[in-house]
Amino acid sequence: MILPTVPFDAQIETLIIGAGACGLIAALAAVEAGQQVMVLERDALPSGSTALSAGLIPAAGTRWQDAAGITDSPAQFAADIAAKAHGENDATLETTLAAGAAEVLHWLADRHGLPFSVITDFTYPGHSARRMHGLPTRSGRELIDALRAVAEGEGIDILTEARVTALHATGTQITGVQITRPDGTVDSIGCGRLILACNGFGGNKAMVAQHMPAIAEALYFGHPGNQGEAMQWGAALGAAIHHPGAYQGHGNVAHPHGILISWAVIMEGGCQVNLQGQRFWNEAQGYSEAARAVLAQPEGQAWAIFDARIAAIARQFQDFRDAESQGAVKTATTIADLAVATGLPLAALTETLSAFEAAKSGAADAFGRPLSGAANLTPPYAAVRVTGALFHTQGGLVTDGQGRVLTPAGAPLGNLWAGGGAACGVSGSDDSGYLSGNGLLAAAVLGFRAGRATRD
Ligand SMILES: Cc1cc2nc3c(=O)[nH]c(=O)nc-3n(C[C@H](O)[C@H](O)[C@H](O)COP(=O)(O)OP(=O)(O)OC[C@H]3O[C@@H](n4cnc5c(N)ncnc54)[C@H](O)[C@@H]3O)c2cc1C
Repeated sequence: MILPTVPFDAQIETLIIGAGACGLIAALAAVEAGQQVMVLERDALPSGSTALSAGLIPAAGTRWQDAAGITDSPAQFAADIAAKAHGENDATLETTLAAGAAEVLHWLADRHGLPFSVITDFTYPGHSARRMHGLPTRSGRELIDALRAVAEGEGIDILTEARVTALHATGTQITGVQITRPDGTVDSIGCGRLILACNGFGGNKAMVAQHMPAIAEALYFGHPGNQGEAMQWGAALGAAIHHPGAYQGHGNVAHPHGILISWAVIMEGGCQVNLQGQRFWNEAQGYSEAARAVLAQPEGQAWAIFDARIAAIARQFQDFRDAESQGAVKTATTIADLAVATGLPLAALTETLSAFEAAKSGAADAFGRPLSGAANLTPPYAAVRVTGALFHTQGGLVTDGQGRVLTPAGAPLGNLWAGGGAACGVSGSDDSGYLSGNGLLAAAVLGFRAGRATRD
């Protein structure tokens, strides 16, 4: 809702809605640029989808890649983003995000002490180089807690339990926001400029059904507070909105445990079979479109099959360790025992795995997955029952790559900025354009740029 301007008790130069990765990075960058900042967060403790994520941010040309002997470049990264999204993205935004990520990670490490490292033991689908960077536990909880600690250390005001329920504006100039407290108290705060860092609309069933009906019935695995206000406010103010049907799904969520199982278990030589013990698609396409592939199978479920070597790689993720401790990962020393542990039909499972392994030795894969040269699965085997889920939306407000929200004519819209899931990302128009890490890439780079920007 857009309300008229009212007299405000407090006036903040740069007001930021949302204390996820985007909002906190924007706040840090804005403070560094000498701005007076406040972050408004609906939850009691900043979490957002950032806390639910693996916290992995892709970047090309980092010193961690150099140290690991990984050859990469922003141009190569931008080309990977474009290819995954079938050329549907704004090319300038692709280039900006691909070129900007290394600077943000170096800044977070050098100025703010976040101990990033690069994942060196497997390649994410669609990435032509190993460029996913994360904190030691490879968990978004560690990332958000680190960002909050740094922000608090810088003296940044994070007003929690402050849900923004409306904007105040005169024309397209945002003059302030209305916040509603859990007890129903309503207050208004004035601002010089506003950064929308309140993510997309994955938690808003009606908007999901409208824009992405194919995933509307699936489990939503992101933060429930992602209610789509950024897009609603932007639309009311006349902002351009692009690719509202874009999203990231994931087809490897442990069921019924609800724990993300890294796609490493697939990329390193594992596969997915349905409850009939049969493979059903080329898993190397990516984990986002895997959600629909798995949900289309009987009972909307599948088993991810891998082995102990691959489990050791996946164990670097806190999520995988949690899945193991909760009993989601079944192990077996023979295929027959694996069939018993999973309840899969032995004959079909044996035939499927034998054809899958043959494809690694040069036989044609029935689904066209490039498997030649991949390591064979060897006992002990491992398996996790999985389902598909919606993780987060990827369409939204069109920005100029510096986070400035644009009108359909390409002009800046008042004093409004957006980043992360609130802005249109670089994932094309549906679920198949999502390149791993596009979510936090847009949160980190657009947050950083929007924060540093000045009003004019
Ligand atoms: C399980 C899972 C795993 C993922 N793994 C990865 C990964 O490894 N790499 C990657 O790149 N991406 C990953 N993603 C996507 C990634 O989490 C998001 O793209 C990213 O966190 C978006 O950051 P954000 O700051 O825009 O949003 P968020 O982190 O969701 O922060 C938005 C904040 O705004 C607050 N808010 C919302 N509305 C209001 C309001 N009206 N008033 C006040 N506050 C409000 C919310 O409470 C929230 O704290 C994953 C997502 C999920 C669900």
